[in-house]
Amino acid sequence: MSQINLNFSSFEEIKQYFREQAKKLHPDKGGNRKEFLILLNWYQEVLENFKEKHKIEVVNKCPLIGNYLFSVLELTVEEIALGGKKKIKVFGEEIICPSCNGTGKRKDGLTKTCGFCKGSGSIEIRDERRNIPTYLNCPYCKGQGFLFTENCDNCKGKGKLRIQKEVYIDIPLGLKEGDIIFIPKERIDSPYDLYLEISVVPHPYFSLENNNLIYKCKIPFWEIILKEEITIYTLEGKESIPSKLFTNGSPIVIKGRGPFLKDGKRGDLLIDFQIYIPEKIPFEAKKLILEAVKIVKSQED
Ligand SMILES: [Zn+2]
Ligand SMILES: [Zn+2]
Repeated sequence: MSQINLNFSSFEEIKQYFREQAKKLHPDKGGNRKEFLILLNWYQEVLENFKEKHKIEVVNKCPLIGNYLFSVLELTVEEIALGGKKKIKVFGEEIICPSCNGTGKRKDGLTKTCGFCKGSGSIEIRDERRNIPTYLNCPYCKGQGFLFTENCDNCKGKGKLRIQKEVYIDIPLGLKEGDIIFIPKERIDSPYDLYLEISVVPHPYFSLENNNLIYKCKIPFWEIILKEEITIYTLEGKESIPSKLFTNGSPIVIKGRGPFLKDGKRGDLLIDFQIYIPEKIPFEAKKLILEAVKIVKSQED
């Protein structure tokens, strides 16, 4: 199997070939398990090679000329930090417009008389030798004698349409706002290469900075004093960390809990916190706090 060196131009072709071969190896058709496993291995290898050959890459800028499309790709902070798959819309093959059957004209639109046959629908051809006229359907209006003049809304008069389809791409790790990723057309089975500029969707408390994840929060002063643990958010969800950590100043650095990076490492999670103190503290409360401070001081001495 692995000796077969086929040149595939798209993922779809590889899948198609695999499906056909897999069918042949079905036990009903006399295939066996061992051969099927060999095919499966081969398939995975070819897919990997194909991915390697047609890499999704981060580039500095788009080329000035070329047969490509440019668009903006919105990603959440989590998508950038964790990577994974992203569904995107791309252009696929060209089809004949179903609304106008490829004529490019509206079927119920305005018409004008065909100038070629002067509205008769047929043209006269004279046989020089016998000198008798023969009539043919006018090739211009296909014998109708009139032509539609309004463009088809669906294809804007082109007669053809590019169908849009949804494909999944692997999000490259280590992205940041404004990065441009290049997606080869082979990767998405499209006639065009794709350049996508990354735009990060604002998050209520997460942001990305220098390969680290920043978690912004406000912690009430009494929580730091009274609670053993304080709840924070990480990429893995809610988590409790010792409240003591909040007494050493901001930010708190949690090593290796930030975004996944290209080199297989992870950035850090930085807890950028502010201590929350209410603007107005009632006199009664102040009195009690003062009492508390007196007790604390007497213990320290
Ligand atoms: Zn005509
Ligand atoms: Zn059309």
